[in-house]
Amino acid sequence: MTLTLRNIIPIIKAHCVGQNDVAVIDSISIDSRSLQNGENTLFFAIIGPNNDGHQYIEELITKGVRHFVVTHIPEAVAGHATFLVVENTLEALQKFAAYYRSLFDFPIVGITGSNGKTIIKEWLNFLLSPDYNIIRSPKSYNSQVGVPLSILGINEKHNLGIFEAGISMMHEMEKLQKIIRPTIGILSNIGSAHDEGFPSVAEKIKEKLKLFTSVNVLILNKNKTICAFVNPKIKTFTWSSDDKSADVYITKKNTGEVTELQLTYREDTFVVGIPFQDQASVENAIHCIMVMLYFGYSQKVIQTRIAQLYPVEMRLKVKNGIYNCTLIDDSYSSDFQSLKIALDFLENQKQHKKKTIILSDIFQSGLNNEELYSQVSQLIISNKINRVIGIGETISQFKNKFINGITFKNVTEFSKAFDQLTFENETILIKGARDFHFEEIVSMLEEKTHETVLEINLNAVSHNLNFFKSKLAPKTKLMVMVKAFGYGNGGFEIAKLLEHHKVDYLGVAFADEGIALKTAGIHLPIMVMNPETTSFSAIIQHQLEPEIYSIKGLKAFLKLAEQKKLKNFPIHIKIDTGMHRLGFEEENLPELIAILQNQETVHIKSILSHMATSDDLQHDAFAKSQIALFEQLSSRLLTELQIKPIRHMLNTSGISNYPEAQYDMVRLGIGLYGVSNDAEEQKQLETVGTLKSVISQIRTIDAGESVGYGRRFFAEKTSQIATIPIGYADGIRRSWGNGVGYVVINGKEAKIVGSVCMDMLMADVTGMDCKEGQTVIIFGENPSVNLMAKALNTIPYEILTGISQRVKRVFFRE
Ligand SMILES: *Cc1c(COP(=O)(O)O)cnc(C)c1O
Repeated sequence: MTLTLRNIIPIIKAHCVGQNDVAVIDSISIDSRSLQNGENTLFFAIIGPNNDGHQYIEELITKGVRHFVVTHIPEAVAGHATFLVVENTLEALQKFAAYYRSLFDFPIVGITGSNGKTIIKEWLNFLLSPDYNIIRSPKSYNSQVGVPLSILGINEKHNLGIFEAGISMMHEMEKLQKIIRPTIGILSNIGSAHDEGFPSVAEKIKEKLKLFTSVNVLILNKNKTICAFVNPKIKTFTWSSDDKSADVYITKKNTGEVTELQLTYREDTFVVGIPFQDQASVENAIHCIMVMLYFGYSQKVIQTRIAQLYPVEMRLKVKNGIYNCTLIDDSYSSDFQSLKIALDFLENQKQHKKKTIILSDIFQSGLNNEELYSQVSQLIISNKINRVIGIGETISQFKNKFINGITFKNVTEFSKAFDQLTFENETILIKGARDFHFEEIVSMLEEKTHETVLEINLNAVSHNLNFFKSKLAPKTKLMVMVKAFGYGNGGFEIAKLLEHHKVDYLGVAFADEGIALKTAGIHLPIMVMNPETTSFSAIIQHQLEPEIYSIKGLKAFLKLAEQKKLKNFPIHIKIDTGMHRLGFEEENLPELIAILQNQETVHIKSILSHMATSDDLQHDAFAKSQIALFEQLSSRLLTELQIKPIRHMLNTSGISNYPEAQYDMVRLGIGLYGVSNDAEEQKQLETVGTLKSVISQIRTIDAGESVGYGRRFFAEKTSQIATIPIGYADGIRRSWGNGVGYVVINGKEAKIVGSVCMDMLMADVTGMDCKEGQTVIIFGENPSVNLMAKALNTIPYEILTGISQRVKRVFFRE
């Protein structure tokens, strides 16, 4: 793409403030975390429900970005860049993408439906790439923002596009249709996802079908309910398993490892084997076969290619590597678009200064190799990658394009040289196309630990954060509690993410937790709730902010602060309004005021209190009395000290139950980590942590035999018992054993039998389809931490924070 600002202004109907409208734009960005190529980037400051791109402009200017699409020019940056002012930046991005789309004229497949969009897209890409230069949506970029960004990846060399469109409410599809303008439509299926966003299922179907208003053909399952809504003028190409009048009639012939389908199409009958058994995968594969038939592929090609379909892995996984390395495992795809995304992701991982990329040949760029590898090299340079290890015949030919690059013909050659290559204290991005089998490299570089991990879904953290933000008044600030290692979910990684989301404050319990975060590079202000007198000095040194809850503590802190000649050092005053844990009471106020008056050593940044019963409406009257007392006591401090501090008292359940007491800030804790004590609210949160282990061994025992310490379980019949290497030393309570709790294997529940041991537990897997080495879910979606807590007569907080630090945390984004 090479357009100048002057070209773009009329397209997005902008008013230009600043000079330089001849600047050439070659990339578009909306995320401040992606590396910008400065000069030639146009940044769209998108205003989302929870995040405002305008906040990042100042920082981007320091990174060299000069052109912005905005709704208003923030005061601090006026005059420092060129601004295209529009009414709505998202609409501007969409208009621009729609215009950009109109510059190209090749077939475009548009996919929508409730499930399967991404898999169908990835599979089609795999199936058709031998014959086309394909541009497709990266990952699951199918939203109002994701679709325009995907479209803007098109270049002159592409000759087929595959884009997915996802909507969650009315009127969204019209906009996506204008941007994608598919010529071939696929409707995957209509399930119940996002029902709440539509007045009725009929409206939802009609809305989805709007993607197809100008297609040459629509591929779909012949279904009466849906077909009734399809405009009869649109040509359809249908399949069915029960309606012989469909264009392609499909029956299941056989299911084993491979599902054999018999297809009848134009009087011809043939069999295609799909290497999957589950219904969803089979339907996704059918949609792919339909596209191949429409494109006129022969039965033979369809059979061979479909037989090679593989499970789609969409996640970039962060793993611990050998010699203190961090690995980013993206060993499933290699194309230019996804390389960009992976490099962005790498940029966000700040664990190590040094960065290495291990990269295979790149496919389907639409460019010739010379151009392609020049661009790859540019991308790698601008991302400040220290070392490039290329693996593959083609990338080897372009070795000289990479500074500090070495190449190998294949993974075997790389393995031979492995001992000579040092990997140490660095982040390594492993990015390769499937055929290269980079999973072998991942396994060479991955730290060998025992197989129990707590997987943390960072997308879910963002989702939950936004959910609670949406409950706040626009001016209410947000402190997030990351005490106890982010409730067991990982302190630094969560804090890093929160910093990006521009929360206002972090809260920790002890000074050392705060010090660890500051040392790791977190810049957000951090309040320490239990500042021990012995840690005051360290608190000052690391610019942490103590919560002061007693006259004794205040005097001690003031004494030290005066010695160090501090001025206006931020402190937080805690008031006890009924929790009776920490805090000043009414009778302490005169002395507190006397001490704080007429001094400049400390500055009262905030006044807070904590509720004892915000989660339990039985105690509503008490909660309200706490709020009233807080109002009274804090107001007194405000008036008598003539100050305007931030006032705050709500935790997670307070945010939901007492919105009237938001004051200036709230303190979000457990909700961020995906747990609510309200069943309705729980449904709207996403699961953050999944504790996983594996089956070490499976044995068969006879009826009457016992399992484990103390013989607390006797088999009633011949039984299969799986041993799983996780026990109470990892945080799994003994009381979860002996038939109370269960683990989930392959989606099925297996009761824990006998007592949970220190490092192991045993589960009854009789009659279940499972093998040694298979993954076992200890908690996550099911059993949920909430369910576990109820059964164990405790609260989710205790379960989460009880997971031992010896359990590895693995972070991923979708
Ligand atoms: C832990 C804590 C919170 C957060 O509580 P959640 O119930 O996890 O939201 C808020 N305020 C204080 C003082 C806390 O100690």
